[in-house]
This record gives sequence, C-alpha cells and structure tokens, in this order.
Amino acid sequence: MIRKLSVAGLAAALTLGLTTPSLAIPAWADRPGTPGAPGVGDPLFPDLGNGGYDVRHYDLAFDYTPGTHDFTAKVTILATATQDLSAFNLDTDGHVIDAVTVNGAPATWALAPGRTGQELTVTPARTLRNHVPFTVEIAYHGNGKAQRLGLTGWNFGADGGFAAAVQASRADTFMPVNDHPSDKATWTFRITAPEGYVATANGEPTGRDGTTWTFRAKEPMASELLGLAVVKGVYRAGTGPHGLPLRHVIPAGQEDRYGPIADLTGDQIAWAERRFGRYPFSTYGIHVYDGYRNALENQTLSLFGTNWFNRTDGTTKYTTTMIHELVHQWFGDSVTPATWQDAWLNEGPAVYYAAVWGEEQGWDELADKMKVVYDKLDAVRAKDGPPGRPKGLGGYNIYDGGALVLYALRQEAGAAAFDRIMRTWVQRNKDGNASTEDFVAHAVKITHRADLDGFLRAWLYGEKNPPMPGHPDWSAA
Ligand SMILES: [Zn+2]
Repeated sequence: MIRKLSVAGLAAALTLGLTTPSLAIPAWADRPGTPGAPGVGDPLFPDLGNGGYDVRHYDLAFDYTPGTHDFTAKVTILATATQDLSAFNLDTDGHVIDAVTVNGAPATWALAPGRTGQELTVTPARTLRNHVPFTVEIAYHGNGKAQRLGLTGWNFGADGGFAAAVQASRADTFMPVNDHPSDKATWTFRITAPEGYVATANGEPTGRDGTTWTFRAKEPMASELLGLAVVKGVYRAGTGPHGLPLRHVIPAGQEDRYGPIADLTGDQIAWAERRFGRYPFSTYGIHVYDGYRNALENQTLSLFGTNWFNRTDGTTKYTTTMIHELVHQWFGDSVTPATWQDAWLNEGPAVYYAAVWGEEQGWDELADKMKVVYDKLDAVRAKDGPPGRPKGLGGYNIYDGGALVLYALRQEAGAAAFDRIMRTWVQRNKDGNASTEDFVAHAVKITHRADLDGFLRAWLYGEKNPPMPGHPDWSAA
C-alpha cells in the first residue's frame, strides 16, 4: 500500500542521509492523478459503469413514502482506487444531490447528461491513491416519478408502493452507483417504510427497528439485480433443500392464491441443484407484485408480475417462468456476464432449462421447440446479430438463440459432457464475471476437445446457422 510521506517520515528520510529533497520526496507524492473514465466501454452501453475504482460494498439507507413516492436516501460506497484518481464518476438519474463526502471530507461534484442517464462526477479534496480503499457518502433525495433522462427502474403498484426492476442499466434511478455488471459488490440495505407496508431487498433480512428494515446481501451482486421494494405485502417463510431458508413476498390478502405457488420453489431449487450443484446464495424467494408485468431474476428474490399466474388454461405452465428466473440465480446472478454483449450466457441457460423442465412436465418436446428456433434464427442473426454478438439486449437471438447454442453443444458433445460443462461453469465462476470467450475456452478444457472451439464460434458468431448435429434434416426456413 502506498501512502504519502508524512512530515515525520520525511524527517526520518533526511536523517537517514537522503539529503537531496528531490530524492526524499518521491515523484508520486505530488502526482495529481487523473480522472476515472466515465464508462467501462461496454459494447452495448459504453457509458455504463465507470473507470478508476472498484466498489467493494454499498450501504443504502432509503426512506420512502408510499403514495407520493418521495424519498430521502444516503448511499455509502466503500471502493478501492485502481489508479491515482483525481476525480471519478457514478451513474445516476433524476436525483437531487444534497451532499457528497469522500473519506469524510466534503467533495465537489457535478452532474452532466450521459447516454442512459446522468454522470455524477465527484472531485475529492485530495487525490485518491491507486490500490487504496476510500469511502464515498452521498446524501440525495427525489421522487419515484421524477422526470429522467433514460428509462426508469421504478414499477408502481395499486398499493401506492413500488418494486425495482432495473436490468440492464436503471439501478441509477434509485441511487448513484457504478452501474455495470462487471463491478459486483456486497450490499447492506436499510429501508424505511410506514406502518402497513413491508420492505424488501436482496439478501437475508437482518432485522427490523421500528419502521426500518435491514437486509444484507453477503454474496457479491451486480447492481442490475437490485431487488428493492416497498409494498403492501406479506412475508411467507419456507425451507428449501439442505435447510436453505426461503422468504417470499406476496400481495397482502392473497396468500391463499399465491402462497401455494411460492411454496413450489423448494422443489424447484432441488430440481436445479441436481443439474448445477448447490444453490449459490444464502436465501431465495419470489416476490409477486401487481405493479410489474414481467419476470426478473433479482438476486435471491425473483420478481414476478401477478399476471404470470393468471392463466386461463388451468395449467401450471407458469412454473416454466419460475424455473427460468431460478436458473438465472446460477447463470447471470452468481456468474455474471463480463459485458452486456455476453448476455446470452444469462438467457440461453434460462430458456434452455425452462424448456427441459417443460418437456419433463409433458408439455412440449425440447427438440420440437429447438427446431422452431432453428428455423427462425437465421433471419434474426442477420437482423439483430448472432447470439454471441447481439446489436442490443432483449432479443430472440440471445434468449431462444442462446438456448439453441446450448442445445447444439449438447447434441455435439453428448449429454454427460454437456452436463459437466454447465455444472463446472457455475462452480468455477461462482460470485464472479465471465465472458463468451471464457465459455468457449471452458467447454474445450472440460471436454478435452479442441474442435469445440470452432464449433461454438460458428454457433455464437456466425451469420448463418451451422448444421445441427443429429438433425441432418433441419434447415433454416
Ligand atoms: Zn431471463
């Protein structure tokens, strides 16, 4: 660790015979440092995240008023400089910044528009030295419905509350944050909500002091998986495999309807553990909310709109969506993509294993589903990019296309080798980040088959579908 020489240190150096001041005061002592980059250079979101530091821990205190959606908040960020840093950025959007300190001393700051939100530039009173930890504290306030430069991550329910769904880039509508999946950190949440509401966040509930609820996410988490909510809901406890504590949040007064659905998750986790090994976090659960119309794999607490469960066909086919978000806890949450261009590593396994689940329930044959994808994918590759090099997020190429890449790999490598590739992938990259290139190298290493390199590259990056092993009759429509 490098520290500036104190006056006493300088005196000691002089006593030791270092009489020439230019030698006694090293060049770095007065080096001014340089500003951190305003983005990490993600291929799809160049402004997301920031350079020059690595966040270790977020502590978010969030005091929210339902109905009006006003909030006052303070985030304390423990980070380590990765260069001599004269200034650094955080991603934010639509907040009023009240005060910023760095290492307890007031810092100057400025807001400027970025490509997906705003860039908050913080200039500390003193240059932050490379490798040295520092603390940033930002007091801010705002309103959930405030005008923003980009999309919002706020989803409002009929109960006057909200749930956060921020993937890929909207954690910054809740807090100043280093909003790129490559910078994972542990988290503490202190959420204040009035009587009659419950607060949720990622990780384990660690207590309640009056109307303030605390949570601790002790495994590293990317900001895109933020699971903040204040709702009129009830907690429902459960137990998963090997005693894993489960906690679900379901709409108040609707326990009869959603409680039994939430209770399916224990067996679903056991099903997933048979494929991927042990569940990677210290708790899991689902949050069912009418203010959201989709499903999202927030870490340890997947969020589902109530609409998912209102099927008119009387089946439990909604469990495929529950499996999809659960599989993400391994693929996407525990093992997080290095950049958003690697997002097929999240969605491919989630879609693929949900289809495997569906086949086991007797709903759809996996091969039939994959044939449909094969027929469609050629045109999608040309328009939106191949699965491993998409032009944007959320497309068929990374979802169904990603699943088709995995199906092709299983056809080529065989079931046993494929299972080994997937299981060791999540074990070896647990709590980390990994890229498409890492996956290709991993498949080669696990199978000792160098030819899988070219095989996977053709599927991931090709402009056309390669032939599908085992299905010589398949051809793109
Ligand atoms: Zn997904």
